[in-house]
Amino acid sequence: TTFDQLNLSEQLLRAITDQGYIKPTPIQSQVIPHILAGKDIMGSAETGTGKTASFTLPLLHRLQPYENSSTSPAKHPIRALILAPTRELATQIHDNVKNYAKYTQLRSTVIFGGVSIDPQIKDLRAGVEILVATPGRLLDHLEQKTVNLSNVAILVLDEADRMLDMGFLPDIKRILMQLPPQRQSLIFSATFSEEIKQLADKLLKQPILVEA
Ligand code: AMP
Repeated sequence: TTFDQLNLSEQLLRAITDQGYIKPTPIQSQVIPHILAGKDIMGSAETGTGKTASFTLPLLHRLQPYENSSTSPAKHPIRALILAPTRELATQIHDNVKNYAKYTQLRSTVIFGGVSIDPQIKDLRAGVEILVATPGRLLDHLEQKTVNLSNVAILVLDEADRMLDMGFLPDIKRILMQLPPQRQSLIFSATFSEEIKQLADKLLKQPILVEA
C-alpha cells in the first residue's frame, strides 16, 4: 500500500511527505481504512511500529470537515480525546498530532499532571478539536469544569494496558461517563489481558481486531 491509496486528505498527505515517510507501516495499512470507515478498533501494537500515526492520521481526516478559522472558542469544541498513561507519551502523541495537522486548521493541546493547571485552562478555553491527556489531570479539569467532553466523537485509549497497570481504571471510568455514548472508540494495547478484554467489551462496538 501507498499513503495515496489510503484516501487521506491532500493536507495530510503533504504533512506525511514532509515527515519523509515513503510508505505506510503494516499497522497503518491495516488500521487506517477501518478508522476512516468509522469502525471501532482493538489494536495490539508496540511502540516503534508507527502506531501513533495509525490512529492520528485517520482521526485528523475525520475531523477535517469541522476545521474552521473562527476565533470563537465555541466553534472549537473537543471532538477527539486521546488518553495516554504518562506525560512523556501524551507529549509524544501531541507532537505527532501537531506535525500531521500542520496544513489543517484543526487545533489541539495536551494536558498532564505535575505542572501548573492554569496555562492548561487557558489553552482549553481558547478551544481545541483534539485533546491529548493523562487521566488524572483530565479528571481534575472535569471536576473544575474547565473542560467539556460532550462533543467528543472519537475516543482513543493508547497503551491501555499500561494505564490499567498504573491504576487508572477508576479515573478512566469516570471520564467515560462524561462522553457521549454515540462515538467511535479505539483501544491500543501491547498486551491483551483479561482486564483489557473486559474494558474492550464495555467500550467497543463490533470492534475490528488488528495485530501488528
Ligand atoms: P510510533 O510507533 O508511533 O512510536 O512511531 C515510531 C516512529 O516511526 C516515529 O518516529 C514515527 O515518526 C515513525 N513513523 C511512523 N510512521 C512511519 C512511516 N510510515 N514511515 C516511516 N516512519 C514512520
